[in-house]
Amino acid sequence: MDSEQYLQLFVEESNFYNHIVLGTLLPARVWEPLPHFFQSWLRNYIGGVLLYLLSGFLWCFYIYYLKRNVYLPRDAIPSNKAMLLQIYVAMKAMPWYCALPSISEYMIENGWTRCFSRINDIGWLGYFIYLAAYLVIVEFGIYWMHRELHDIKPLYKYLHATHHIYNKQNTLSPFAGLAFHPLDGILQAVPHVIALFIVPVQLTTHLGLLFIEAIWTANIHDCIHGKLWPIMGAGFHTIHHTTYRHNYGHYTVWMDWMFGTLRDPLDDGSKKEI
Ligand SMILES: [Zn+2]
Ligand SMILES: [Zn+2]
Repeated sequence: MDSEQYLQLFVEESNFYNHIVLGTLLPARVWEPLPHFFQSWLRNYIGGVLLYLLSGFLWCFYIYYLKRNVYLPRDAIPSNKAMLLQIYVAMKAMPWYCALPSISEYMIENGWTRCFSRINDIGWLGYFIYLAAYLVIVEFGIYWMHRELHDIKPLYKYLHATHHIYNKQNTLSPFAGLAFHPLDGILQAVPHVIALFIVPVQLTTHLGLLFIEAIWTANIHDCIHGKLWPIMGAGFHTIHHTTYRHNYGHYTVWMDWMFGTLRDPLDDGSKKEI
């Protein structure tokens, strides 16, 4: 198989996703005439909006209504107005966020990255080794991107401050997970794209990891501390929203621990008790 044919596998895969999402939800005459890039963008956009709203509503319904007073004290429950404002900010940014995976798919389909299509092309051992390397790049990249968004003052003022108006428990909710300035959200996801140029990753896996990212960011804004070391869950991220100087990290406590910015919610709790 020559390289042109190989790249065609990526196009076929993204066409397959476009047909599933757009073919199910929109009449063919609306999306079929669009160029391939915009079809993929529209699929990412519709998928992103549905994922954000459905997972957010279900999660809020569960923690604030069905399990009221179980996970959170009553005064920590955000008002509907606060949540609607977060949805508004996220919805305004969503068309821009979706440009990122659309551009990364474009680069993959044109052979600019080190992506591969089928796990058999590389073998399971190689797949997992490269996946681990990809995740390390993402952990490192997101930590530093986030930290610089705080340390470089104009970046904080004009971009990241939008996300930090939620600075108390009762102003945070899963909907805050994507409530960023559009450029801020994109910058924090850029390490996923940079990683494509450094290590070989499977296209499906890359898209799956971006998908998980959207769920994860909702989860770390629900203020429920999971206590699952070394995962950097909501307990850690709530501290980030109140001190601004700790817990910049992503999935794990690793980077904050290594670079000296870790603050553990359990330590905070024990100090309060004393
Ligand atoms: Zn921050
Ligand atoms: Zn946050």
